[in-house]
Amino acid sequence: MLQLFWLWAIALPMAILTAWLVKRSILAKTPADDALVLYLLVTMASMFGGAVIYLLAPSVTSLVEAVGINTIFMMGGIIFVLRYWEPPSPFLLASEVSRDEETEVAEPAPSSRSGTFDTGSKASLGETEKQHTIVSRAAVIALVLLNEFLMGWTFVLASGSTVITTGSFSQVAISTFDTVVGSQWFIFTMVAEMALSAYLLRNDLPRNFLVIILSQSIVMFFAPTAINNPSWVPASVALGSAAMIALLIYMYEYLFKNRMITRTIRGYFVALLTAYALMMAGIFIWMVQGSALLFVLSILGEMVLYFSLIFTRSNTNSSKTRSWMSDPWWVFTFMAMTFIAEFFMGALIDIVYYGKGFLSGISLAPIAGSIPTQIGAIFYDFISYFGTVTGSSWFLIMMGAEMGALVVFKIRITRELETKIRLVLVIVAYFIYSIFLPSFVFSSNVAKIPFLGWSMGVGTAGAVAPVFLGAILGTYLITGSLSFLFGARQTCSLFCTAALMYQGTFPDSMKEFNRTSKFGKKLLTSRMSSLYKIVATLAIVSMIIAATISYLNSVGIINFTFFGTDVSYFLYVFYFNFLWYIIFISIPFVGTYGCVTTGMCHIGLFNQFVSRFGLFKLKVKDPQQCVSCATKDCAKACPVGLTDLPGSFISSGQFRSHKCIGVGDCVSACPYQNEYFYDVRTWLREKIGRGKNETQLPRLPVIGNIGGSASFQIRSGTDELKDSSHP
Ligand code: SF4
Ligand code: SF4
Repeated sequence: MLQLFWLWAIALPMAILTAWLVKRSILAKTPADDALVLYLLVTMASMFGGAVIYLLAPSVTSLVEAVGINTIFMMGGIIFVLRYWEPPSPFLLASEVSRDEETEVAEPAPSSRSGTFDTGSKASLGETEKQHTIVSRAAVIALVLLNEFLMGWTFVLASGSTVITTGSFSQVAISTFDTVVGSQWFIFTMVAEMALSAYLLRNDLPRNFLVIILSQSIVMFFAPTAINNPSWVPASVALGSAAMIALLIYMYEYLFKNRMITRTIRGYFVALLTAYALMMAGIFIWMVQGSALLFVLSILGEMVLYFSLIFTRSNTNSSKTRSWMSDPWWVFTFMAMTFIAEFFMGALIDIVYYGKGFLSGISLAPIAGSIPTQIGAIFYDFISYFGTVTGSSWFLIMMGAEMGALVVFKIRITRELETKIRLVLVIVAYFIYSIFLPSFVFSSNVAKIPFLGWSMGVGTAGAVAPVFLGAILGTYLITGSLSFLFGARQTCSLFCTAALMYQGTFPDSMKEFNRTSKFGKKLLTSRMSSLYKIVATLAIVSMIIAATISYLNSVGIINFTFFGTDVSYFLYVFYFNFLWYIIFISIPFVGTYGCVTTGMCHIGLFNQFVSRFGLFKLKVKDPQQCVSCATKDCAKACPVGLTDLPGSFISSGQFRSHKCIGVGDCVSACPYQNEYFYDVRTWLREKIGRGKNETQLPRLPVIGNIGGSASFQIRSGTDELKDSSHP
């Protein structure tokens, strides 16, 4: 313990010194400044390099070698520095340098709401920074990482940790690399350097990046490889995941609030998420197979990314801004990397909670037999693995926490009380109906409970067996009745997990893709395009065939399963635990609520079909208002792409569509508060004589609109309306 204390007493000042050198390098104005930083970094590297040589084989010879290396680098370095150094600029106090530069450069005026990060103080260093070559920056980054590695190696050896020294060269090299970079000496020192350099540069870095960098430091601190203690691994996985989720929420919210962002920010976001995807995959491999190589490479990648950012920090605001929505591939990569990171995060939490039995319990098919059988087995194994993780309670909890936070943000900006209440219910339903009750309360007999156990219809909880027929039929009866009374919104906008996934601020802000993406455009309006017909037919027919096979297999008439798994259950996993997520991350190419717009969900189709003939519809108080309405905001706000809303309101005063899932964004978006929901509640009020004329209801005062482009003022109690965009 005492030894550990003394080692950290050396490591921490080294981290502080390195962070200070990084700052010096960033603020350097002349080649001499660079030379001094490089010299000090080289000296540190030679010092720790010498220590490693000695500690690997302590002897007089290795001591002489260590001292010799040190001397050569120190002397050579001094000659190099003296060649360039012109005092006193490198030794100016940091505050003096800052003051100097503040007087020399213009103050920028970006703000986070304008799509660039708020820089807080100094602008780009302009000409000065241009003088620094890429080579010198790369050299500083490489030397910092080399220093960390050699210092980590020194302390790993000094603390008596086991390092493999026998075996082939590559085995020893990889093992040493894994042990050193995965150790507390490397990781905690890096965390300290990252946080410290960000602190030292706090006046020089955009504030939003400071938040991101500090969050990155926290995520990295919880590296499970850092401490060799059985309690550390589960604690670090849980806390590191929580920190990463918080960071992702921050990034999503940033994007929601800022459409226009610079190329540097776009690049950093995607690169960071790629590093996180690799990091979570690396921790997964480390926990399952014991190899930390991918994890430590991702740590190095993240460090390179971090240093590159702070060396080019002025570009965060000065590079060209562009709407991130105008780059579908960027959005797709961002979402795909997020998903990969979260997939492995979910798997890790599952392993921590259930133990490694979670993975060994996954049913896998042996890859053997004829070529088609092998292809089938590979497909089966992939979907089985994928679906087990995405269908697991902890993946859903983790995903729910993240997307639920975005729904909370949406509630804060939603105007309609009914939509606010529905969004609250979405969160409650997700955690109680989709996770808590089926996973933790009724997990053993959930298949016997209608509606709760069979939320996605046939296949949800198992085979179409006689013992479950009552629960399955009961499910369709309950969900169908609710859809008749309240519309398909009871499923697609409330009970289904999709409601939480699609209705948070960030995903909802991408509904423009419904009108701009290639496939999205083909799926617009209530019309059943040929693409929709094909997908919906496939979904229904495949479900009916799977249900029939499942039933016949269950009663013993045939003996047919898919590699030992009930066909209807496998189809459920394929549709809802795999394909659904693919469609979700493909929002930039398909639009939002792809499960509805493509018709790929058979339970959704069932409810939407019933709803079409039920009581639910959208109505307007005054169709004439829609005629004169210039914005048609209701159509723009629909996350399902029902752009035929205004036409229907004008022709009939109401809107009915099998695709309408009653999200209600159109109601909130109407600048005239002209639109309202009609369902069994309105119907009953009409029957008992209350609220028989919605147009007579007093209107609430509203200023502004959501999702619209014009500015409106609507006065209470009358139809009087002032629209700044219309005379
Ligand atoms: S279509 Fe299906 S998956 Fe999509 S929201 Fe409706 S029930 Fe959920
Ligand atoms: S935004 Fe309102 S007024 Fe305009 S078309 Fe839609 S429902 Fe009618």
